Amino acid sequence: MTIDNYKFAGKKAIVRVDFNVPLDDNGKITDDTRIRGALPTLKKILADGGSLIIMSHMGKPKGKVNAKYSLSQIVDAVSEKLGVTVKFAPDCAKAAEAAAALKDGEVLLLENLRFYPEEEGKPVGIDKEDPAYNEAKNAMKASQKEFAKTLASYADCYVNDAFGTAHRKHASTAVIADYFDADNKMLGYLMEKEVQAVDNVLGNIKRPFTAIMGGSKVSTKIGIIENLMDKVDNLILCGGMTYTFAKAQGGTVGKSICEEDKLDLALDIIAKAKAKGVNLVLGIDCVAADDFSNDANTQIVPANNIPEGWEGLDAGPETRKLFAEAIKDAKTILWNGPAGVFEFDNFTGGSKAIADAIAEATANGAFSLIGGGDSVACINKFGMADKVSYISTGGGALLEAIEGKVLPGIAAIKG
Ligand code: AMP
Repeated sequence: MTIDNYKFAGKKAIVRVDFNVPLDDNGKITDDTRIRGALPTLKKILADGGSLIIMSHMGKPKGKVNAKYSLSQIVDAVSEKLGVTVKFAPDCAKAAEAAAALKDGEVLLLENLRFYPEEEGKPVGIDKEDPAYNEAKNAMKASQKEFAKTLASYADCYVNDAFGTAHRKHASTAVIADYFDADNKMLGYLMEKEVQAVDNVLGNIKRPFTAIMGGSKVSTKIGIIENLMDKVDNLILCGGMTYTFAKAQGGTVGKSICEEDKLDLALDIIAKAKAKGVNLVLGIDCVAADDFSNDANTQIVPANNIPEGWEGLDAGPETRKLFAEAIKDAKTILWNGPAGVFEFDNFTGGSKAIADAIAEATANGAFSLIGGGDSVACINKFGMADKVSYISTGGGALLEAIEGKVLPGIAAIKG
C-alpha cells in the first residue's frame, strides 16, 4: 500500500516518526528538522480525515523511564506545527483507552518507546558472555512481539516514516508490521523520498559518479567504501582517515589521528581501487596544527610529511583543487563525512571546497546526496542546503542502504 492510495478517512493510523530532536537544558528544542521532516505525512493523514497515534524514541534511556528523554517536552511544538492540540499518552504500552477515544482529526503522541527495553529488544542487565544470555534474549524477543502487538492494537493501519531508525529491527520500526496486512501498512513520504534518493544514487547511475567519504576513521566506513568501489568512477577519501593512508604508504603523520591497526586495510583499499579502475583521490597536502583547537598555530605541509608534534586537521590547498576536479564534472555525487575538523571555523576550508564543487556540479545537473550527521551539519553551517539535491535524515540507515543492505524497517513493509 502507499500513503497516496490509502483511504485514511475514519481510520486510526499509528505512525512511527523520528522525533529524536536535540533539546537544551531547559527542554527546548534546538533543531526541529526531524519534526518538520515528518509533517507532510502527518498532515496528509489528518487532511484525509484520519486520526493519528504518533510514536517515536528520544535519546538512549536504555529501557528505563527517564524524564530527561520524555516526549512530553515536545507536545507543544508538535501541536503548533500540526495546528492541532496534541494529546499525550504518558505510557506508550498503556494507551489503548486514549487511542480508542481519538476522533477523526485528533492526535495522540505516545511517550518515548525506549522507556521499554522491548522496543529495542535487547536483554538488559546481562552480559553477552553469560551462559544465560541466549535464554534472556529469546525471552526478550517474545516480549518484544507482545509489545509490538500492543502498539499495533491501537490502530487500523501502520505508517513508518522514521528513516533514521530504518536499519534497526525494533518493535515500532519492523516487528509491529507483522500485525498489519499488506493493505494496511505503508511507508510515509519522508521514507519514500529517502528510498528514492538512495535509488537515484545506486539504481540508475548517471556517470561520472563521485563519492566523497570523510570523517575521523576508516574503520567505521570500510563497509561502504568497499561497496562503493564497485560503483564509483572517483572515490575521494578525506578527513582523519587520510593519515592512516599516508602512514600506510610510508609517510610520517606527526600526532594526526591514525589507526595503526588499519594500515594493511588502507593498502588493501588502494590496491582494490587500482584493480577496479577507480580513480582514488587522497589528500596530498594538509593544514597541520600544533594543537587540537581552533586557535592553534598552522602550517601547510605534505600529507605524508607532517612534523613531530603537529597534526593534520584539514585538507590543504592543492588537495582542495584535486577534490574539486573530481567533483565538478560528476553527474552523481554522494558525500558522507567532513574533510577536516569542521567544528572549528579555521578548519572548514576543505569541507567548504567540497561543498562548493558539489553545488557547482548540482547546478550543472548532477544528483547530489548528502548524508550522515556531520556532512549535513557542514552543509547547514555553510548555508548551502538548497544547493544540493537531497539531504538525508539518516546516518547509519543511509550508509547501510548504500552498502546494499536491506533495511528491516523497509523490508517489514515492502516484503
Ligand atoms: P565521523 O563521525 O567518522 O563521520 O567523523 C566526523 C568527525 O570527524 C567530525 O567530528 C570531524 O571533526 C572529525 N574529523 C575530520 N577530519 C579530522 C581530522 N583530520 N582529525 C581529527 N578529526 C577529524
